[in-house]
Amino acid sequence: MGALSSYEGIVRENQSLAPFTWLQIGGPTRYLIEPNESRQLASVVKSCFDAGIPMRVLGGGSNLLIRESGFDGATFSLTSPAFGQMRRMENTVVCGAGAKLSHLIAFCVSAGLGGLEHLVGIPGTIGGALRGNAGTDEGDIGHVIQSARLLTKEGLVVEVKGADLAFSHRVSSLDELVILDATFELEPGDVRGLTKREQTFWIVKRSKQPNFPERAAVAFVDPDGYKASELLQQSGFNGAIEGAVRLSSTYPNYLIASDGATSADVLTLVERVIAGVRDRTGVQLQLHLEIW
Ligand SMILES: Cc1cc2nc3c(=O)[nH]c(=O)nc-3n(C[C@H](O)[C@H](O)[C@H](O)COP(=O)(O)OP(=O)(O)OC[C@H]3O[C@@H](n4cnc5c(N)ncnc54)[C@H](O)[C@@H]3O)c2cc1C
Repeated sequence: MGALSSYEGIVRENQSLAPFTWLQIGGPTRYLIEPNESRQLASVVKSCFDAGIPMRVLGGGSNLLIRESGFDGATFSLTSPAFGQMRRMENTVVCGAGAKLSHLIAFCVSAGLGGLEHLVGIPGTIGGALRGNAGTDEGDIGHVIQSARLLTKEGLVVEVKGADLAFSHRVSSLDELVILDATFELEPGDVRGLTKREQTFWIVKRSKQPNFPERAAVAFVDPDGYKASELLQQSGFNGAIEGAVRLSSTYPNYLIASDGATSADVLTLVERVIAGVRDRTGVQLQLHLEIW
């Protein structure tokens, strides 16, 4: 294990990343590291940096495609409970980046704090949601962030104010190695009203996406002024298949993987679709899914 020998209890070598992603596709990471808490995380990050080991961070894996070749570096998974703590302070909530977005929404709604409930149904963690500025037509997570604590690849903790961060459609300026936690500024509200709002958003969200047990991922970002799903439908790509991967016929902007699916199937399919949509509509689609 070389440079990481003193972290034996939290480091596993040559672990497949497929089980960590919704598509369940892909090869191994050289080191899978599951730290117990942030000081230990900072220390192991510094060791990786000093040893020249490339590093990446997993969230819930709902927006990741791992290539079969895997990742020849260290992959951090923040699943320890220490990374998922939530704490209310008046109208703000501090939340660890490893917490599930669904848990934060439930926490806020039951505490009578509104502002996140429209994000119900988006899978993944706070870290993943902040990195990609997750959102819906009702707004995105970047709108309610007050500050975030980040860990640099050198192992240093830095705090950034919301005013110094930039968020746009599925893009954030949070580009340090690790998002440790974030503080959200919320609106006080009545628990029953917020619960109702959350339930209504959940019903709408469920009507727009495949059932959760499926191995699914959002394929493309909505281009300015368009819905990716409509462009795919118009161009005849709903239900398009490559190997064991297809675009859903009912919800065309979702990739669905079946047994035997490979990252090559996904990449071939999305390349074919991007070229086809460009030829037929003149619009250039960009991937939503991140490829490792
Ligand atoms: C059924 C379904 C429905 C979806 N609906 C929506 C939707 O309505 N709106 C939407 O925006 N997206 C949607 N998505 C996409 C996806 O859920 C979001 O992009 C989600 O926010 C990704 O979070 P994650 O924790 O799974 O991140 P991952 O997929 O694990 O990672 C995504 C990126 O975030 C980075 N990351 C994760 N955690 C951290 C951290 N702590 N520090 C630094 N970087 C980190 C990773 O390195 C990677 O770059 C949907 C996906 C599915 C499968």
